[in-house]
Amino acid sequence: MSCDFISLATEGVRTLKPYQPGKPVEEIERELGLRDVVKLASNESPLGPGTAAREAAAHALENVSRYPDGNGTVLKQTLARKLGVGEDRLTLGNGSNDVLELAVRAFVTPEHEVIFSEHAFAVYPLATQAVSARAVVTPAKDWGHDPEAMAKGLTDRTRVIFIANPNNPTGTWVDTNSLERLIRSVPEHVIVVVDEAYCDYVEAPDYPDCVSWLERYPNLVVTRTFSKAYGLAGLRVGYAVSHPQVADLMNRVRQPFNVNSVALAAAAGALEDDEHLSRSVAVNKSGMAQLTEAFDAMGLDYIPSAGNFVSVNVGRRGSQVFEALLKRGVIVRPVDNYGMPEHLRVTVGLEQENVRFLEALAKVLSPRGRS
Ligand SMILES: *Cc1c(COP(=O)(O)O)cnc(C)c1O
Repeated sequence: MSCDFISLATEGVRTLKPYQPGKPVEEIERELGLRDVVKLASNESPLGPGTAAREAAAHALENVSRYPDGNGTVLKQTLARKLGVGEDRLTLGNGSNDVLELAVRAFVTPEHEVIFSEHAFAVYPLATQAVSARAVVTPAKDWGHDPEAMAKGLTDRTRVIFIANPNNPTGTWVDTNSLERLIRSVPEHVIVVVDEAYCDYVEAPDYPDCVSWLERYPNLVVTRTFSKAYGLAGLRVGYAVSHPQVADLMNRVRQPFNVNSVALAAAAGALEDDEHLSRSVAVNKSGMAQLTEAFDAMGLDYIPSAGNFVSVNVGRRGSQVFEALLKRGVIVRPVDNYGMPEHLRVTVGLEQENVRFLEALAKVLSPRGRS
């Protein structure tokens, strides 16, 4: 080959390591010759979507020969009403991953810096590197974001700060006072993205209501998703709420039809189904208690989590325990790529799925059960 295409790529893309998604259940079952594999690896809802979302999706399927509504009018109207914001503050995305990237593409050049914390969600370094910008990774405190360290990372070149609240894979969250102090210390020309993918699960009374801060802090961008509590991860739909000008810019860089018609309909349906959302949150709460009580009983340390997953310290290489659990038909997530080599992240499943995981874990960690 005469042309080395790698050398033609932009600097950021040349050194980019792609996101490592978990394997689908079907593939693992085929590889291992197992059935009834339990997947607690990608923070998906164990309930899936509710009836309203399913029916809306099925109905939308009848019209897939048509392009979707490129403006996502119905979903935006529903979101605007539910959130109490103007539709001009909304940007819809093909998953919230998409809107996280839109924020970077709209504002960040290779001369800029992007701040995020150690152990933060993997998409922030990827989005930063894809535009050849410099990532400023600030040290974590007790596994969580340290807002003071993040403020210290600010320079003249900072253009975006990412805050995952709660964070994946640690489950940690930043309280109202600390977050507002951080936002106040940031100059107005720096975009503060607060990623609230797991906000529906959070019960802590001092968890910040960032959407209500948008009037006060025009540089704030709040992102949310239908992938977690609403159970629509496969359809890919999320959104950002921001200043109208910021929304205008993000909408300029998105693909004209970035959210498909089935996803638009299902998401709008899901928003009208509060009962299903409550059920999803309740199942998570009892499953989280089930997991953490078992970890306590087994003497395993875990990071208290506000999300629908928990990272547990298995006291040895997490990737080995991951492999051993896999052989027993349970998929969880090793997190060495997050600088957490002895932790495993496990998604809260249905009661019986959690039991399967806990039984397999006990066997794998017992002195004689290592294979
Ligand atoms: C899962 C997750 C998302 C959402 O991903 P989608 O693209 O909306 O499916 C965003 N941020 C964090 C921290 C997540 O864990």
